This record gives sequence, C-alpha cells and structure tokens, in this order.
Amino acid sequence: MKLSWKQYDLKLKHTFRISRSARDIAPVIILEMVHDGITAYGEASPTKRYGESLETIGAFFASLDLSRFESPMQLEDILAYVDAAAPGNTSAKCAVDLALHDWVGKKLGVPLYQLWGLNPAKTAPCSFTIAIDSKEVVEQKVHEAAEFPILKVKLGLDNDEEMINTIRKVTDKVLYVDANEGWKDRNLALERIKWLKDQNVEFVEQPMPADQFDDLKWLRDRADLPLIADESVLRLSEVPRLAEAFDGINIKLMKCTGVREAMRMINTARALNMKVMMGCMIETAVGISAGAHLAPLLDYADLDGNVLVSNDPFDGVRNIKGRLSLNSQPGLGVTLRP
Ligand code: MG
Repeated sequence: MKLSWKQYDLKLKHTFRISRSARDIAPVIILEMVHDGITAYGEASPTKRYGESLETIGAFFASLDLSRFESPMQLEDILAYVDAAAPGNTSAKCAVDLALHDWVGKKLGVPLYQLWGLNPAKTAPCSFTIAIDSKEVVEQKVHEAAEFPILKVKLGLDNDEEMINTIRKVTDKVLYVDANEGWKDRNLALERIKWLKDQNVEFVEQPMPADQFDDLKWLRDRADLPLIADESVLRLSEVPRLAEAFDGINIKLMKCTGVREAMRMINTARALNMKVMMGCMIETAVGISAGAHLAPLLDYADLDGNVLVSNDPFDGVRNIKGRLSLNSQPGLGVTLRP
C-alpha cells in the first residue's frame, strides 16, 4: 500500500463567517493510496481547534508503515493500527479510512452504499449553509440558494434576529440553526430558542459552549426545539454522555476518524434514541461523497462543504436541489477532474 498526498487550496464562493472565525480559503490534503493497480482517494480537512494543520497531517501519514499489512481488505486491523499510531490526528486518520474504503469498494466493484446494504434513493435531505454576514449579503445568498429546500443558518453573534428576519423576508422554507457555541448565557440561549421556535426553525445545533455541559443539560430540559451536539462530540466514546444534554448528534468524518467509526456512532445514537445528523468541514467531493454514502441512515444531512467552494478538483456525489445523488461507480464514486 503506497501513500502519497497533495495540498489543495479550496476557494470559498463567499467569505465563510461563523460565531468565532471567518475565512476565504480552506486548504485540504488529498491522500492517494495505490495497491494492486487500484488508486483510491482519501481527504483530510484540518481544524486548528482540534490541533491539526497541513504539517501535522503530513507528519502523521509519514509516520505510518502500512507495509506490515497484506491487503487494504484488512480494514479492522489497519484502522486499529492507524488509530493507535498517535492520539488526535482525526482528519488524517479519516483520510486513511476513506482511502481504504474507496479501495475496498473499487476492488469489489461496488459503491459503498451497496456494500452496506443502503438505499441511495433514501438519502436524508441536505441543507445549504448561510453563514453570518451583512443584511445585503445574506439576502443575496438566500436568493442564490433558491433551489435548496432547507437552509442552515449560522447564528451566535449579536445580529441573530437580523439574520433570521432578513431570511424570513425572502423565504418561508425550513431552517436549521447552528449557534456554534455563540450563546454563553443559558437564559439568553433559552430566550433565543423560544423566539426561533416561532420562526419555523427545526432544531438548534450547539447552542452553548461544549465546556458548559451543566448549562446545556439545563437548557435541554426547558428548550422547545431539539438540541443537536456538534462541538460537544468528536468520537464514539462521547456519545452516551451526550444523551443527557442533547436530542441528537452531528457526526463529522474529519472529527470521528472516518466512515467506520461514523457507522458505530450512528448505531450508538440510535440505541440511545437520539437523532443523527452528518455535517462536514469545507471539503472536496471526496469527503462529501464519503458522508453521502451514509446519508440513507441519517435524519439530517448537512453535506454542502463542496457546494460552497468554486474549485472542487473532484467529481462525486451531486447535490441536486438539496438531494444527495450518489452515482453507481465503485468505492466512494469520485473521479479527479481533468
Ligand atoms: Mg455545527
């Protein structure tokens, strides 16, 4: 198994502003794995918050010795080795997980959804994200998103009401809200959620900081909308505790090390009677397609990371009016654009 990797700078169509940051370019690393004449792809989209950078990802790949394994088919053994190689490094681990799954699908000649027995016609509807911006830009973005039936709105600064009012002037479609930990006071959070309930909002993602778990529990007991954990959840082991403070979890492949662990998180959340959403970072069609193969198992999909960029080097799952359309090509179903 031969690994090589390359950096791509993804250009965002609009500056992407959430409650704690803003950016125009998102660098990612594409991992290529060649074995037995088959080329497979993985992707790592690093997040500073979780201690990753382009440098840490390259160093992690370089530290791996996959020559000890005979075949990528030995997924369990290889991924156990990769996970134990160093703590953290979740997006780098994800890249390896995706490349292995892509390879296995290609070797067997089946798309991943088929390998897992899932119906590609049943992918959860996918939302389109509206980041925080001025009234004029938000209005323009809502018009541009006319074909998407569900919008996910970023809130958590002091212009929450203005954001929602601006959107509601243009459309009455269903909204998901993501506060990205922006509300630090639980009474304020409760008040905002009460108001959002009247604005046809379906749920609120991460209303308060992950380190205010007791406040989140308090809020969950009183809030009229489902609360979905995002910043509070990274990996499988955290899911059971979160059932005390949230109604669902937002799984991100880049945080949970890939589709293998994501599947376990989905099953665990279901056992706890929790809703399941899958989100993404800014990613190419490699990461987005990987998530989309699991979309038939989700309640909510927020896999628009590559729709927000103008130079995705890959073609894969298509987002057609908010519906994730998986193709019948084997593995992840992605191809490098010429
Ligand atoms: Mg979020």
